[in-house]
Amino acid sequence: MPTEEQIRESLEEILVPGTMGSLVKFNLVRQVTVSDGKVNISLASAALNPGTQDWLNDRVRDVVKRLPGVVDVEMSFEEGRCKDVNEIGSVIAVMSGKGGVGKSLVAGLAALSLAQRGREVGILDADITGPSIPKMFGITARPVGGETGILPVLSRAGIKIMSTNLLLPREDDAVIWRGPLIGKAITQFWEDVLWGKLDYLIVDLPPGTADAPLTVMQSLPLSGVIIVFTPQQLTAMVVRKAIRMARDAMHIPILGVVENMSYFVLPETGKKLDLFGKSRADEMAEAAGAPLLAQIPLDPELARLCDDGDIERYNADLTNALADALIQAVGARRMREEEGEEKTSLDSRQAPQGGTTAGEDPRGPDRQSEGRRAGS
Ligand code: ADP
Repeated sequence: MPTEEQIRESLEEILVPGTMGSLVKFNLVRQVTVSDGKVNISLASAALNPGTQDWLNDRVRDVVKRLPGVVDVEMSFEEGRCKDVNEIGSVIAVMSGKGGVGKSLVAGLAALSLAQRGREVGILDADITGPSIPKMFGITARPVGGETGILPVLSRAGIKIMSTNLLLPREDDAVIWRGPLIGKAITQFWEDVLWGKLDYLIVDLPPGTADAPLTVMQSLPLSGVIIVFTPQQLTAMVVRKAIRMARDAMHIPILGVVENMSYFVLPETGKKLDLFGKSRADEMAEAAGAPLLAQIPLDPELARLCDDGDIERYNADLTNALADALIQAVGARRMREEEGEEKTSLDSRQAPQGGTTAGEDPRGPDRQSEGRRAGS
């Protein structure tokens, strides 16, 4: 007779129709029990239309019945909203003081680098000014779903992508979204998209520091932001604006800064050229009170891969370093928050009884993972 674990493993081969992701990847398997060869499985029905549920019902039975020792399979569907099924670790927004500095590119590279490090990653593309994210990942498929929710599109590397741009009737439609509409769309992307289990959700914000990015930031439980800039004259001023907006006005921690188009490497000699002026990376990191996560060169190969929808072929030391720096920044931020929480809770207690053993987390192992669960 198979164990519960083996049954769950067997369900990994079942793809949700219209997506390239399995039932397990979307966190749809709720309960699995086995007793005397009789298997009971319940799946969440979130984002699955009735036809898809029927198909999955048959497919799950077929797959599980094939396991040695199984005599009967009972299937049921639990109703619920996507937000009840989603388990999302850290929600990280990528912002820039102004457009055209490569913010979407950095959002894409951050997601890619974390996925290459084996993390479950999603991208919520809230940049309504253009389809940069779907384009660089080569995504043309439309999201599918039912009355109870919508499924993100999977990139080749398995990154779950949801974008306002994928919902437009035509790719080149101009979008006139006003504040309340953006807020509503983003809230829906949070509550009604089946993200499943994610370690990181990367949010590509609209550029700048005006109403649109502000609305998006207010609509999501952000763990932190990354600020992207280029080494140009105006940079210092616009970056400071972005810092003030995120940290001082919205009280969202800055996880780090990224300098894009930092330099250019001459192919003939390997010499580094400061194309847009001297790097301001250290100055900006200091202004943000956060680490410099990466300095990305102006790289024609990278531009070509983005244009061809092949960003996932970009595999450089740079992406590994970016993932490591990000994971470290998120971990450090969490530790600082928890020290703060710990201190506050100790301060508010009159006489702490017993205390906590060193290295033990009073809220259990789930809180010890690098990403803070943002909840639903
Ligand atoms: P933003 O989101 O800030 O408006 P994007 O990320 O969409 O900017 O980038 C604009 C364009 O510049 C894209 O076509 C991208 O491919 C290109 N680009 C950005 N950064 C680089 C880089 N470091 N090397 C080469 N091309 C880049």
